[in-house]
This record gives sequence, structure tokens and C-alpha cells, in this order.
Amino acid sequence: MLNVKAYLKPDTVQSAYEMGQIPGSLYVSGGLMVAQLKISNVERIVDLKSVGLTHIEDHSDVFKIGANVKISDLISNPYLANLNGDLLKNSIKEIGSTQIRNMATLGGSIAFKLGWSDIITIFMILDSNLEIYDGEFSKISLQEYVKKSPKGVIITEIEVPKSGGIAVFEKFAKSNFDIATLNLGLKVVLDGQIVKDACVVVGSRPMVSQRIKEVEEFLIGKQLNGITKDACDLMERVVQVGSDIRASAEYRKALSRFLLDKALRRV
Ligand SMILES: Cc1cc2nc3c(=O)[nH]c(=O)nc-3n(C[C@H](O)[C@H](O)[C@H](O)COP(=O)(O)OP(=O)(O)OC[C@H]3O[C@@H](n4cnc5c(N)ncnc54)[C@H](O)[C@@H]3O)c2cc1C
Repeated sequence: MLNVKAYLKPDTVQSAYEMGQIPGSLYVSGGLMVAQLKISNVERIVDLKSVGLTHIEDHSDVFKIGANVKISDLISNPYLANLNGDLLKNSIKEIGSTQIRNMATLGGSIAFKLGWSDIITIFMILDSNLEIYDGEFSKISLQEYVKKSPKGVIITEIEVPKSGGIAVFEKFAKSNFDIATLNLGLKVVLDGQIVKDACVVVGSRPMVSQRIKEVEEFLIGKQLNGITKDACDLMERVVQVGSDIRASAEYRKALSRFLLDKALRRV
């Protein structure tokens, strides 16, 4: 980023957005990905850290998490860490190293829409919504945000509904600190042994995380015991995966079955 001429530190979301609209501007929050960009057309860095957005609020039906909250802070809040059967407590430690988790922000991790993002998979199974600012504040589901890729908007908050159910996250990577070859999130709401509701998300396909509706529909209404093999067969058939330097599509299909099997057993 040799052509950067200005480093701006606005103190409101509105002024940050205005600065961000000028061609050649780039937002930065934790800075981990921005620091690695090899692009020459960025002339102005707009630092979002002074606008606040570091809150974690417990409302009656949702948690509201500011976009500048660090990934590591998600597990220091006991209510959030224990959400949906300790999902965040168990999954956040799978993301990079302690140093990375202490720098990376939730907003930056979502906005970059990395195919291998664990954060997107984790927050998609929680059915999260984003508050965004594009001249005015509005809400969009994380799923829609990832599909539409709106340009130039600022993510200000992530809203996680208190929806109940048990959620688990599985990741296959070549080493502890490596990014995922494939990741999978599963959330089920049970009535006794019967699955009342299900959400299944696969990420690092290597494309960005996606809900696997066919598997969700298959699980709903079934008794949890004894459906693992059929659910895994279906997953392997329907999951849309591709090949890259990390793995072939065939390998990822086999992994999708393995991770779903593990997730169902953990639930
Ligand atoms: C070595 C390494 C290993 C990693 N391992 C993993 C891993 O295993 N799993 C995983 O999920 N992630 C991993 N990550 C990624 C990391 O978790 C974050 O995704 C990444 O650091 C981005 O967060 P950031 O706050 O640093 O964003 P930045 O680098 O500051 O910004 C990233 C992008 O988002 C934009 N942006 C930032 N904030 C906002 C906002 N509020 N609104 C709109 N746009 C915004 C910026 O303009 C930029 O385009 C790894 C990163 C590194 C460097």
C-alpha cells in the first residue's frame, strides 16, 4: 500500500462513512487483513477504531455486539460465551492464535467475506443480523449481507437472537493455527429427541459459508438418534464445494460428511 497519503481517525460512524465514500479510501479496524493487502489504489485509510462500537449488550431477546469488539472479547462475556451450549467458548479458540484473536475485530472478520472465515460460519448458525450504515442505519441478515456484498457500507453491530437450541462448530485444518480446509456449524432445537428446528452451515468450501437447506429440512421432525448416516449421505450429495490449493472438491465432500457426523454426535 505504497500510495497511502492520508490516515484518518473519524470519531463518528457518519463522518467515517463520508470519508469512506471518497474514491481511494479503505476502512481499517483490527488491521490484520488490511496490512497484508497488495493493492496500489488505496490513498486514504479510514480507521474505525475511534468511533466506539465496542459494546456487548444483553437485551431481552438479543445480544448486541459492537463491530469493533475483538474476537477474544466474545468469550470474556460469560452470557455470550455460554450461548447455545457454549458455542462461542468452544469455537473461538479454533480461530488463529491468541495474538490474532486479540487484534481481529468482529466487523472486520465479517466485512472481508473470506471464504475460510470461521466467524461467518459461527454467526450464521446463530441466525445473526447486522446493523449497517450507508447514510442511514438499517438491518440485514448475515446471510443476505454475504450474498449481496454491499459496497462501502460500515458494519456497526451484530445482533444475535436468543433463540435457544444447542450449537456446535467443527473445523478441519492441517494444523492448530491453520485456516480451515472446511468448517461446519450445526444448531438444533430439540423437543425431547425430536429435531424441531435445524441450521447447518458449511464454510471454506472454499467459497464463503452457506446454509445447507436440504440437510436442515431432512433433520427437522426426525428423532436425533439413528439419523446420522442418512444425514451424512445427503450432505455429501448436496454440498457445493470446489477445489483449491488446500484440497480437492472430492476431499471436501468427504470432509463435509465427517464434520456433520462429528457435530451430530456432539449434539
Ligand atoms: C495469520 C492469520 C490467521 C487467521 N486465521 C483465521 C482463522 O483461523 N479463522 C478465521 O475465521 N479468521 C482467521 N483470520 C482472519 C481474522 O479473524 C480476521 O478476519 C481478520 O483479521 C479481519 O479482521 P480485522 O479486524 O483485522 O479487519 P481489517 O483487516 O481491519 O479489515 C478487513 C476488511 O474489512 C473492512 N472493514 C473492517 N471493519 C469494517 C467494518 N466495521 N465495516 C465495514 N468494513 C470493515 C476493511 O476495509 C477491510 O477490507 C486470520 C488472520 C490472520 C492474519
